[in-house]
Amino acid sequence: MPPMTRIPLIGVSTSITVGTAPERAYVNSTYLHAIQQAGGAPVPLPPQLSPLALDVIARELHGVLLTGGGDIDPARFGEAPHSTLYDVAPSRDALETAAVRMALDRRLPVLAICRGIQILNVALGGTLHQDLGTDPGTELRHSQEAPRDQPSHKVTVLPGSRLATVLGADEVEVNSMHHQAVKALGQGLIPVAWAPDQIIEGVELDDPERFVLAVQWHPEELVSHFDAARRLFSALVDAARA
Ligand code: MN
Repeated sequence: MPPMTRIPLIGVSTSITVGTAPERAYVNSTYLHAIQQAGGAPVPLPPQLSPLALDVIARELHGVLLTGGGDIDPARFGEAPHSTLYDVAPSRDALETAAVRMALDRRLPVLAICRGIQILNVALGGTLHQDLGTDPGTELRHSQEAPRDQPSHKVTVLPGSRLATVLGADEVEVNSMHHQAVKALGQGLIPVAWAPDQIIEGVELDDPERFVLAVQWHPEELVSHFDAARRLFSALVDAARA
């Protein structure tokens, strides 16, 4: 097989049911389709994986996708929980934190989406706005009423950043389904995208040789009708193949 047709394995973190039985692991299919359309093969990484199982699987992976979901336990960044927190799942926090460390240690490319940007930031020592409605007092709606596959606010991207290069634009229209956001930055991360209210919507590792890219919006819901969204997944899979 010629090298360009090699299909990289992309670890995809999953959600876990909270407070309902039987316990399940699950992931929105849009992530799985987007990875495959970009030429990768998704490998689910459920929170139920033991550290040993994650370690064994990690040796086979070529890239990692951190997906959206519920809130991160604020104990991870030394704060008491805000009353609006939902679907807090310590086992998922732990699995994804281990996946971040594994990916950085193995120099695997990482694309982090929504909750993904948050867990990446917290895993590297950063903090979060626990509730955008009250914390920075923004008037911009980040929990959109529009359908998931429709954009609702603008994002300005730092010219010359890896994110701008991947998107092919310094400004994009994005969907917005989050009530939390990056506050203090984790170690090694730089902010590269902002909503009009200055909430951070994109970060990347401050190292031009590493593909570690994170966005606060949901490109997996936009790939069928926005080239910039497709380009995020293509860039992850291409970096994983390289
Ligand atoms: Mn937003």
